[in-house]
Amino acid sequence: MQVQHNISAMNLTTFGLTSKFEHLVHVTSVSELNSAIELAKQTHSPLHVIGGGSNVLVPEVLPGYTIRIEIVGKEVVDETATTVRVKFGAGENWHQTVAWCVERGYAGLENLALIPGTVGAAPIQNIGAYGVEQEQCFVELEAVDRQTGLPKVFDKTECEFAYRNSVFKNALVDGVVIVSVTYELRKGGTVNVKYKDLATELNRLEITSPGIADVFNAVVAVRQNKLPDPEIIGNAGSFFKNPVVEVEKHRQLLKAFPELVSFPAKAGVKLAAAWMIDRCGWKGYTNGHVGVHENQALVIIRTGQATQTQVLKLAADIQASVFEKFGVELEREVNVW
Ligand code: FAD
Ligand code: NAP
Repeated sequence: MQVQHNISAMNLTTFGLTSKFEHLVHVTSVSELNSAIELAKQTHSPLHVIGGGSNVLVPEVLPGYTIRIEIVGKEVVDETATTVRVKFGAGENWHQTVAWCVERGYAGLENLALIPGTVGAAPIQNIGAYGVEQEQCFVELEAVDRQTGLPKVFDKTECEFAYRNSVFKNALVDGVVIVSVTYELRKGGTVNVKYKDLATELNRLEITSPGIADVFNAVVAVRQNKLPDPEIIGNAGSFFKNPVVEVEKHRQLLKAFPELVSFPAKAGVKLAAAWMIDRCGWKGYTNGHVGVHENQALVIIRTGQATQTQVLKLAADIQASVFEKFGVELEREVNVW
């Protein structure tokens, strides 16, 4: 187990802030993970976990031990004529995992191509894009309790998956470290191309009966065109969740804002937060340190040297202006430490 001290977070997180980890522990196995947990416990130090660092906002100095999950591996654990179950190490790169599935004709995750980060973080916020969420293929995950060091398996029900949410962001926040995730993929079958940008891209390519590789390629192309590449522009993806409001609130908003972009949701109506932020005039804004992406107003970006405080100040200003104009509270999606 490799332990580093006073390490810059710039290249270990996609926002690229001027932050540092007091101690960074690279963990490549469950036994190393147990040793790292023990180390933090013995020194009474705070403990954090990162994968790809694409959904976290780190302070100037993050005290204590930060465990970077680098546990890799792929194992087919069950197979039928129509399905295959694969157990992936939590440190596997998410996009490479999706590509691996697509190359073998295993369907289910192709709409989630090019999402940064690791397999182990995918259940945390039940990652989703273009009408698919990882829960649709999820079977179970293996985790280690941060307090006791004991292993525990979580099935789908226990994970309490919801829209960009799970038990790991609520009752079990900072409770466990995920070491593997098992997904069930289909051998072929139907694809989901109901999101407009995806359908438009497939139309443009004149693909009328898309297969999973077509969907994968289209998602990659659409995302590369629209969303900022964190290698070039620091960001952590959507900074806020799309708020879900009651039907009555939606009706009132539509009266005042007939152009409001919204979609039916399980418990009401989902509003496009990006549309509201844009209407408040934030799209393309920058103060030299941080700003709002010119193509997607939901993404806060780094436009110079920036700190967590500067990002949070802009986020708070955006939240305040959206609340003032629409009476809607935006909830942060990014994990702030
Ligand atoms: P990190 O940022 O390292 O960690 C995120 C959270 O998970 C932290 O709370 C951390 O403690 C916890 N965590 C990480 N690994 C583990 C583990 N093994 N065990 C326990 N806890 C762990 N998200 C979407 O849902 N859909 C998208 O389409 C999408 N697009 C994005 C596009 C861009 C350009 C960027 C920068 C981000 C995007 N995201 C998207 C957000 C992000 O990529 C996902 O949330 C991703 O799953 C985070 O993975 P990570 O490994 O980088 O997690
Ligand atoms: P988009 O296609 O321009 O859509 C704008 C918003 O409208 C999205 O947030 C999406 O909600 C919603 N939407 C669009 N079509 C919908 C439909 N048919 N049914 C229900 N909701 C619909 O969004 P985008 O910014 O280019 O992103 C494309 C996809 O990638 C989205 O699914 C988005 O969530 C995902 N993404 C996520 C992050 C992140 O960090 N979380 C970052 C980039 C992209 P949903 O967000 O609920 O899908």
